[in-house]
Amino acid sequence: MTVSLTLRRPDDWHVHLRDGQMLAAVADATARQFARAIVMPNLKPPVTTAAAAAAYRDRIRAAVSPGLKFEPLMTCYLVDGIDSDELVRGHAQGIFTAAKLYPAHATTNSAHGVTDVRHIYPALEAMQRIGMPLLIHGEVTDHTVDIFDREAVFIERILKSVVADFPALKIVFEHITTKDAVDFVRDSGPNIAATITPHHLAINRNAMFEGGMRPHFYCLPVAKRELHRQALRQAATGGDPKFFLGTDSAPHAVETKESDCGCAGIYCAPLAIESYARVFEEEGALDRLEGFASEHGPRFYGLPLNPDFITLERVATPVPPRIPAAGTEIVPFHAGEVLDWRFVA
Ligand SMILES: [Zn+2]
Repeated sequence: MTVSLTLRRPDDWHVHLRDGQMLAAVADATARQFARAIVMPNLKPPVTTAAAAAAYRDRIRAAVSPGLKFEPLMTCYLVDGIDSDELVRGHAQGIFTAAKLYPAHATTNSAHGVTDVRHIYPALEAMQRIGMPLLIHGEVTDHTVDIFDREAVFIERILKSVVADFPALKIVFEHITTKDAVDFVRDSGPNIAATITPHHLAINRNAMFEGGMRPHFYCLPVAKRELHRQALRQAATGGDPKFFLGTDSAPHAVETKESDCGCAGIYCAPLAIESYARVFEEEGALDRLEGFASEHGPRFYGLPLNPDFITLERVATPVPPRIPAAGTEIVPFHAGEVLDWRFVA
């Protein structure tokens, strides 16, 4: 039995680090495991200019403990009619790695999101020209569409036309949750990829209702039925370079999750690589974890692989029920469970 695993240091291609006290509380959880992370721009107000992104990047660097080597990769929050010159300039200055499309009201702090994808077509044109990736929260926000169908309907109504209109645009379909998304990405050209979270590999929608309401398993896009989880596991562990690691770690204070209108998001950063390792081991694919976690992402983004390595040891690792943060607590993913692997360095 494998007792220790050495991997090229991974990157997280989708994370929410928040700001202020919460940023200070969560930054190290990501920075200790990952060399780089694509940081989501859905702050209040959202990060829509290169100056705001550079300032946020400085706050993240200041929040990470000295001794941890970590590079935040910044994203621009796309809004209706956004200035494409600002995107091009920010990208050329090395501030914006990518830009993020949130359909308006799709998730946490997305009220400023795009109301019609045609309103950002000039920006997409510019991004296609300069090779800047578009990151997509792929759900329609039409409330007549069942919440479990919003990703599949997004592919049909919006994503297919964006791909047809911008055939060379690099697109990352973020935190995919359905077999429909897996099939779409697999059948598209090499410029279309997807990130997959640890929680969507581990739980299906029943987890939210196991013996009662379980708000800590509520995230967006919401977990789907088992056949979709199985498709995601095959995609992640199958070695296809179009699929790579993105935790979508999204910390919320416990009282905002356990409420009459609880926030969407799962805080999976503290044991992220351990959680993925469990899935890959269950699928008999531990030898493919490094590709998914550390190689496919940088190759898609056109960035170098990290030069250093991490080690995981096989040791029973209890996950705390709560983690103190920002004067309150966060309930992490796998709270109260015991994982088989532990990140050591
Ligand atoms: Zn997210």
